Amino acid sequence: KQLTKEEILALADQMNVRYVRLQFTDLLGVIKNVEIPVDQLPKALDNRIMFDGSSIEGFVRIEESDMYLVPDRSTWLVFPWDAPQGRVARLICDIHLPDGRPFDGDPRTVLKRVTEKARAMGFDAFNVGPEPEFFLFKLDESGKPTQEVNDEGGYFDWAPLDLGENCRREIVLTLEAMGFEIEASHHEVAPGQHEIDFKYAEAVETADNISTFRLVVKTVARQHGLHATFMPKPVFGINGSGMHCHLSLFRNGQNAFYDESDELGLSQVAKWFLAGILAHAPAFTAVCNPLVNSYKRLVPGFEAPNYVAWSARNRSPLVRVPAARGLSTRIEVRSPDPACNPYLAIAALLAAGLDGIERRLPLPPAVNRNIYIMTEEEKAAMGIRSLPENLEQALDEFEQDAVLREALGEHVCRHFIEAKRIEWNVYRTQVTEWEREQYFVMY
Ligand code: ADP
Ligand code: GLU
Ligand code: MG
Ligand code: MG
Repeated sequence: KQLTKEEILALADQMNVRYVRLQFTDLLGVIKNVEIPVDQLPKALDNRIMFDGSSIEGFVRIEESDMYLVPDRSTWLVFPWDAPQGRVARLICDIHLPDGRPFDGDPRTVLKRVTEKARAMGFDAFNVGPEPEFFLFKLDESGKPTQEVNDEGGYFDWAPLDLGENCRREIVLTLEAMGFEIEASHHEVAPGQHEIDFKYAEAVETADNISTFRLVVKTVARQHGLHATFMPKPVFGINGSGMHCHLSLFRNGQNAFYDESDELGLSQVAKWFLAGILAHAPAFTAVCNPLVNSYKRLVPGFEAPNYVAWSARNRSPLVRVPAARGLSTRIEVRSPDPACNPYLAIAALLAAGLDGIERRLPLPPAVNRNIYIMTEEEKAAMGIRSLPENLEQALDEFEQDAVLREALGEHVCRHFIEAKRIEWNVYRTQVTEWEREQYFVMY
């Protein structure tokens, strides 16, 4: 809900707020904040708080470092946990240049720009419902995370196997106290792995929610002596953590993906959008799966996708069309992982889908067979491509995708690709434990 400056000041007073965190995310999706004492709040709400952009990953050089924080007043939230000196609140901010223009390198600004494009095409909302998964690991006596998972539970297991249950329950309660509408929360397939799904919302709000979610999960886990990680594949040989994204476009309050008269119940808009997702999938992988480690998840055998295909029946392809119709008509993109920058990932998905609509891309046939047992020839005949196998391949695809580059803007693309190429090159030269085990004695 959009609040006025006066309403926020009154709420801060009523709720004994002593500090306010002005929050934003850097290029890599890491939450940053500038904390101000509450007497600075009026100044903050007048957009007069400055910070040094040159110290933030992927922002700017020293010579142009002054940036302004512009709080989004609809994001006012008081953290539910107690602090001895009084409560802490937060506001999510956009970043503006000293001349008042929105800053091109701000991921939230980038996402807003792409949603404006959707609006100009007649869609008043792009809805995103995420399903983030994460692991809980034990902490050692000194409070450092260990490699030991917290339980031996499995999918939907019941306590006492599910020892992370108390922690997860408190995460859910905390999120609810912060206004989240939690739709499901359960143990996932792997030991120590959990999933919490919250209700879909319009794109920018969902990206805000995902960053807040990660912060809350990590904070509450700590309070339970646990370390929560959103690393996509923390343990070899078991499932990794994904963040499936359910997507739909609304027009005049109606779901523009639904068409009662269609055989599948899908509108032409939905089919074009889905075709756009498939067309740009190799390229948006760089953004939705941004770590060297992301590609250890996108391998056969662990419920994560590795082929570019869609199905209304099957759960294994990149895109599934869940059975629900009417207002809940949506597509589920299964490749994103919870380490992505949610603003950029959602912007890339939307830009891909809108391109499908603009170019009226034909939808390839659904693949309802098990792709893993198809031969190379069969896959080629059906036009089934693979997702990139590593970060380098994904960056090459991204670099060549003019539509995504334009959507994310030159500033973000340049800095993102540069940072990620460095990450890849550092990784490439590492000598791993696996290599030593394989080669050290034999050669
Ligand atoms: P799964 O079968 O993969 O576990 P769920 O049925 O749990 O998926 O779907 C979960 C997500 O789909 C939730 O985040 C929910 O809010 C979201 N969702 C429901 N309707 C829509 C819609 N019209 N647009 C986008 N997301 C939606
Ligand atoms: N953990 C799986 C993944 O990596 C998804 C499991 C599921 O279907 O919920 O995407
Ligand atoms: Mg899951
Ligand atoms: Mg799912």
